Amino acid sequence: MKCPKCGEDNVFGALNCVKCGTKLTTSCPYCGYENVLGVLACQNCGRFLRKIKEELKSGEAPKA
Ligand SMILES: [Zn+2]
Ligand SMILES: [Zn+2]
Repeated sequence: MKCPKCGEDNVFGALNCVKCGTKLTTSCPYCGYENVLGVLACQNCGRFLRKIKEELKSGEAPKA
């Protein structure tokens, strides 16, 4: 997976970028589990992580 900061191509499952050290995990808002970036559902509790973002987006005013 590519680092969002420097673009380094890290192996899938890496917790930190090997180049710049940026955290490549996203914590589940439900249980706090640190999931690797790119997963659709929390690896611990199974709740969908992507849906959360969509819900957050729906609360924002659309950019026309
Ligand atoms: Zn990086
Ligand atoms: Zn979770």
